[in-house]
Amino acid sequence: MNRREELALNLQEIRSRVAAACIAADRRPEDVSIITVTKTWPASDIKILADLGVHEIGESRDQEAREKFEELSSLGLRWHFIGQFQTNKANRIAQYADVVHSIDRLNAVEALARAASNVDRTITALVQVSLDQTPTVGRGGASPGEYLKVADAIAQSSHLHLGGVMAVAPLGESSDTAFGRLEELAAKFQAEFPDSKMVSAGMSDDLVEAVAHGATHLRIGSAIMGSRSYVQ
Ligand SMILES: *Cc1c(COP(=O)(O)O)cnc(C)c1O
Repeated sequence: MNRREELALNLQEIRSRVAAACIAADRRPEDVSIITVTKTWPASDIKILADLGVHEIGESRDQEAREKFEELSSLGLRWHFIGQFQTNKANRIAQYADVVHSIDRLNAVEALARAASNVDRTITALVQVSLDQTPTVGRGGASPGEYLKVADAIAQSSHLHLGGVMAVAPLGESSDTAFGRLEELAAKFQAEFPDSKMVSAGMSDDLVEAVAHGATHLRIGSAIMGSRSYVQ
């Protein structure tokens, strides 16, 4: 099987898994989008994906994302930055990212807002919320006490559009339980910000649970691309 056949097959499989998860959760498949996470994979793979009808691309490392974007800028793809957001990279990220999923603190809002304004682009920003029950180092995310403040700051920034919330299921807990908390938190969020309906949650191994708890945007890497040679 060549790479194109492999990617086409994986896409078909993941789309039917997502459709089945939607049926099981009594949701409409058109309300759940798949972002294909291509970190570590070459631009040539993204070209194939685009040809197979994939336009939502997720990347988590600035340097790598930027190189691919430059090579593929003619394809009209939508670039999602899903990695940890470092304020010193804001100016670079603002040049290619259409959506930034990982804004979890006020100084990140300021940095992205300023960077977006410098290049005169409007960027959709999601508030990354922490689902950790005890504060731990590692995955990032605003605490339940802080995420609404971060959201407010985004909503007030003229070059940012508040898209919604994003989360990663913590290790060492069932993703079903963790995404249950996300669902409650997203409901509170939408009570405050009714136009910001994105819920970015669910990866290759926990997409069923994410769909069951209201995810609108799944970030799927290895189930489409294959297993990566580095972990992040
Ligand atoms: C890599 C990554 C994904 C995709 O993970 P898979 O398990 O390969 O599907 C999703 N979200 C974030 C934030 C990631 O870094």
